[in-house]
Amino acid sequence: KKVADRYLKREVLGEGTYGVVYKAIDTRTGQTVAIKKIRLGKQKEGVNFTALREIKLLKELKDPNIIELTDAFPLKGNLHLVFEFMETDLEAVIRDRNIFLSPADIKSYIQMTLKGLAFCHRKWVLHRDMKPNNLLIGTNGQLKLADFGLARLFGSPDRRFTHQVFARWYRAPELLFGAKQYASGVDVWAAACIFAELLLRRPFLPGTSDIDQLGKIFAAFGTPTSSHWPDMVYLPDYVEYQYVPAPPLRSLFPMASDDALDLLSKMFTYDPKARISVQRALEHWYFSSSPLPTDPVKLPRPA
Ligand code: ADP
Repeated sequence: KKVADRYLKREVLGEGTYGVVYKAIDTRTGQTVAIKKIRLGKQKEGVNFTALREIKLLKELKDPNIIELTDAFPLKGNLHLVFEFMETDLEAVIRDRNIFLSPADIKSYIQMTLKGLAFCHRKWVLHRDMKPNNLLIGTNGQLKLADFGLARLFGSPDRRFTHQVFARWYRAPELLFGAKQYASGVDVWAAACIFAELLLRRPFLPGTSDIDQLGKIFAAFGTPTSSHWPDMVYLPDYVEYQYVPAPPLRSLFPMASDDALDLLSKMFTYDPKARISVQRALEHWYFSSSPLPTDPVKLPRPA
């Protein structure tokens, strides 16, 4: 039985934020694909049309470091999104104790992450839900960002589903302070958390609640002051905190190179307006200094 007269359904790959994801064969191309079934719930049909129109825009986002949305169609009250099939993800790589990541491997993974982000930011699309299991890895070692634009389309996932706790760990301070207007800086902060996680091989700021998340950020970088971040005091959920001094960043990342730490500190800037952009992060000397990023086909991957 074919779905949409085109896809042969295979096994379920997992339950995601927005619904079930299953493997399928595209009979038109012979390619393996992943189909994400998104429950549209009790929304009015007009909303679905809006979603579909926006989905069309996402289909135009084509880049080597962005997972390609090849098709989208509504079926039985669900929206089906068809993506290229990917072998594994960065979370599996980070968690696999049999994998050794050299400084060049880490540089390659974070460079591909930033390249994918840079492409989308140039098109004025934010990701908003960056985390290692949203960074998928294909057979040729290419890392591709998944779920681009979905957070904005279908709502911030962790507010809708309680099992989605991980997204909090990658959340920028302005979001934790309740910022309603925010920009590409939220993706830079999340990318910095992923960079840190690659260096440490464990989540860097694993907050257990939103308050604890802020506490973990303050413990790592010191409490922000209005001289560092003038707009902070105007944010809806801003409250004054007891002063915490910043430990030297070096003490948190004893194994990192100086250039890696320099880039990391620019990405972890409190004030989103002062935070380095993705484009400038890619131009940082970390990426042109030795060791150069590993060729993606040579990157270590889970067995
Ligand atoms: P989450 O919302 O928790 O990030 P997803 O909805 O992205 O989860 O995905 C659910 C499951 O489907 C995960 O196990 C993920 O690895 C898998 N998956 C998602 N997209 C793809 C893809 N393009 N190729 C292969 N597996 C995928």
